[in-house]
Amino acid sequence: MKDSNMHSPKIDALHIGDIELPREVAGLYDLAYNLWWSWTPRARSLFASIDSSSWALYRNPVQLLINVEPERWETLVEDEQFMDRYEAVISGFERYRSYAEGCWFEEQRAADGVPEGTSELFAYFSMEYGVHQSLAIYSGGLGVLSGDHCKSASDLGLPFVAVGLLYRRGYFRQAVDSDGLQQHNYPEYDFRRLPLRPAASATGGEVRVKVPLVDREIEVKIWVAQIGRVPLLLLDTDIHQNDPADRPITDVLYTRGREMRLIQEMVLGVGGVKAIRALGLEPTVWHLNEGHCAFLQLERLRETVAEGASFHQALEVVRRDSVFTTHTPVPAGNEQFDAALASRYLTPWSEPLGCSVGDLLALGSAAVDPAGQNLNLTALGLRTTSRANGVSQLNGKIVDAMWRHLFPQIPQGHRAITGITNGIHSATWVGMDIRRLFERHVGPDWQRRLLDPAAWEAIYQIPDEELWAAHQRQKARLGRFLRGRMRSQRARHGAAPDELRAVGNLFDTEVLTLGFARRFATYKRANLIFRDLDRFSRIVSSADRPLQLLFAGKAHPADRPGQELIQQIFHLSQTDPLRGRVFFLEDYDMRIGSMLVQGVDVWLNTPRRPLEASGTSGQKAATNGALNFSILDGWWPEAFDRVNGWAIGEDQSLAQEAAQDEADVESFYSRLEQEVVPQYYDRAETGVPTGWIAKMKRAIATVTPEFSSDRMVRDYALEAYFPAARRHREAASNAPVEVGNIS
Ligand SMILES: *Cc1c(COP(=O)(O)O)cnc(C)c1O
Repeated sequence: MKDSNMHSPKIDALHIGDIELPREVAGLYDLAYNLWWSWTPRARSLFASIDSSSWALYRNPVQLLINVEPERWETLVEDEQFMDRYEAVISGFERYRSYAEGCWFEEQRAADGVPEGTSELFAYFSMEYGVHQSLAIYSGGLGVLSGDHCKSASDLGLPFVAVGLLYRRGYFRQAVDSDGLQQHNYPEYDFRRLPLRPAASATGGEVRVKVPLVDREIEVKIWVAQIGRVPLLLLDTDIHQNDPADRPITDVLYTRGREMRLIQEMVLGVGGVKAIRALGLEPTVWHLNEGHCAFLQLERLRETVAEGASFHQALEVVRRDSVFTTHTPVPAGNEQFDAALASRYLTPWSEPLGCSVGDLLALGSAAVDPAGQNLNLTALGLRTTSRANGVSQLNGKIVDAMWRHLFPQIPQGHRAITGITNGIHSATWVGMDIRRLFERHVGPDWQRRLLDPAAWEAIYQIPDEELWAAHQRQKARLGRFLRGRMRSQRARHGAAPDELRAVGNLFDTEVLTLGFARRFATYKRANLIFRDLDRFSRIVSSADRPLQLLFAGKAHPADRPGQELIQQIFHLSQTDPLRGRVFFLEDYDMRIGSMLVQGVDVWLNTPRRPLEASGTSGQKAATNGALNFSILDGWWPEAFDRVNGWAIGEDQSLAQEAAQDEADVESFYSRLEQEVVPQYYDRAETGVPTGWIAKMKRAIATVTPEFSSDRMVRDYALEAYFPAARRHREAASNAPVEVGNIS
């Protein structure tokens, strides 16, 4: 796996597909096709300097390179400054790809005494990936987490391959009409304009695999999106070899039709294993993320049985090197199919697996007694792996209690499911100005120091004025972004020129600004803070200590209650007294997410405890110096130290939902009035809020390293991947099989 570019076709450096490049800057081709640029500001600004208007519109280097005029290249290759920056970026990229600065993985494996040359490969499966907004194959937290996981796996040098689906129409793009109703748009993405290349086989041809369904086979094309050193294999059914009725299988992420969803998940799991095999890769560990991908174990069972094992032996073999992560306790995230539908699709597997359909349904039963049960993919994932975790310490306990009846062999007092807390890819989410402070104070190698929390003590040495100025610059950038989006939204809603001009006065960088952006699932309670509208409006419109609130988020197309929350908040944003103080930004994506977490003062999170498995947006905010004001759910109880932000409510839950909502909102109002607002507006002679800045430093220093995806991926490696790889090696040398949770 050291040759990260193993899939790039051998090409004529001057004319590749739709891209024509002068030889002097031929390195831009590989750079555009490696999403490494997305977390490397120097690479981003290099592309921006080639064509700033294309960059402003698309932020997509492939799209940009396709459209550059030859005359523009003539100017650029003569421009010494440009060429110097080009050389610097390309050599940084080469150093990164060639592990020139060493990597955590190799050092750790050497320290573990794993013999040099031992081949290892960790295969990661997920239904969605959020790597950059231009590759719109994600819906929310799971996707962004998967993207961040790949980026850190790349940074730490893990031998890693990721597998997902390539959605022709992505998730949906959101618009909100003038009545506040969510509109769903499904643009068709042109894969030639995205950082995607067809996977190439050893002989150079395109790679296709076949996924058997009940009465036919679906042909699947494999694409590669390169994330630093990590290839992300993306499966696509939209090819002419398939019947027109089968081509849309990979059209839409989280499609609502149950049968179509099941077929998608068959393609992901079964097609994913076949894709890996077709490329000649040999994973030593398989990491299942959520149940969506659990059918990969069917194909692995089939392979093992074909090699002569019985069904039960095969099950032991497959479990041994497989690990499972459950990302939510909410039922909607724990995929189920009714027994009749599932049986129809499982029937063809029974013969090659040497078992009955009932045996397979039993593997995917969420109950102790499997008779007549639905097929639950979380249960299937848990029963076919040897180790499982939830995504924060609190969530680990919750899901352990939810699922431990599936593990009768695990003694009381031992955990069936542990917790590995989520983290974020810091370089992706930190804003330019705060990033410069990291470079100056933690060091130019700050990205490599995320595994060393002590290095982050340096944050406390930043002069107050310097941190405040950096924060205010990011906040001003958010203001410009908000005004741009508001202007186009209001123009679309029919606002008159004078109203559009007035947009220029919206957003004041001197006003305390709260942000809330995430999927509008009802358990996240986006409208909680509006319960006592009079009281809240009074706080917001205070003459000398006012507030601004920015909201963004999509509700699933089938989630009517979630869409009603959007409508309610949109209405509040259009009506006095909150008009001009509350904003709803349409079409939440990674770009809006970045702008918000980088620019707001306070990050708000109000889930119904304990349903927020981890939450990661608050980690992004804290890394930028925004202070979390959050229910003690998910990751926050681990991070909250009474200085680095605020809690809403207590660290326990009431039995009654209504009473819980009431208690939480009361806690929110009173802490907002008594702590958050006064501390923000308490200014020193110099105009900066000294006490507030001390809290910002504490937030950055405590959260950035501990809740980075580097720390998360290291934990997965140490607690899940390495033990599974050891079991895999030992099995190869015939050691006894070890099953059950090894922690
Ligand atoms: C980080 C992120 C999320 C996750 O936010 P939570 O607060 O964990 O729900 C969802 N969507 C996008 C676009 C993100 O960037």
